[in-house]
Amino acid sequence: MKNYTFKLLTVVSVLCLISCQEAKKTETAKQETQQELVEEKVVKSILTAEEQADMTPAEIIGRLKKGNENFVNNNLTQRDHSAQRRKAMIGQFPKAIVLSCVDSRVPVEDVFDLGIGDIFVARVAGNIENADIVGSMEFATAVAGSKVVIVMGHTACGAVKSTIDNVDAKALGMNSLADLINEIKPAVEETESEGDRTSKNDAFTNTVITNNAKRTVKNIREVSPTMAKMEDEGKIMIVSAVYDMESGKVTFNKD
Ligand SMILES: [Zn+2]
Repeated sequence: MKNYTFKLLTVVSVLCLISCQEAKKTETAKQETQQELVEEKVVKSILTAEEQADMTPAEIIGRLKKGNENFVNNNLTQRDHSAQRRKAMIGQFPKAIVLSCVDSRVPVEDVFDLGIGDIFVARVAGNIENADIVGSMEFATAVAGSKVVIVMGHTACGAVKSTIDNVDAKALGMNSLADLINEIKPAVEETESEGDRTSKNDAFTNTVITNNAKRTVKNIREVSPTMAKMEDEGKIMIVSAVYDMESGKVTFNKD
């Protein structure tokens, strides 16, 4: 009887061992397949001249909106930056230029789920235009082939709030900041308010932020006949938008 029990236990142990090994093999194969799927999804290429040429301005805006949806849903594309960096050495064919505020809470590429070689980014507090910014946009569009210009303001913008609250930067020894605030002032002045005209009034502040971005678009068209003509001919689109700090969503304005 003892001998029989021993044999039975041995058989059971061997069977357990075999089934454990099989399960391990299946698990490893599953992990390898998952790893391959993840690898396949990682973007290693960058935009080419042909891809840039094939896209219309409206299609590009559609892709940027989709990218922003990915950002809002915390579902950013994985990128192999080393591979992209190496490919980018041969040139760049970005599809758009985005003018953003300098605010550290607005990570422009991430906001549109983009990476190396995808967009030009110009940044200045309050996303106003000046000769250097417009010059950079002319280069991006007329020289480098980008087809969309986005002026993107953002909620809770410190530059806009300071302008609304009449911060006297000159008195604080910051002459250049005072000049920058002066550039935002017209957007404050043209905005009507149902409540008080301070940055504590969120509705008023948000409307100024939208108007400031729209105003920058208007100014770009005025100071750059080249870009205005390209827009009239349907070669590029110049639009304004506002990034919502809380939700991550970018809302495009109708200019
Ligand atoms: Zn800002």
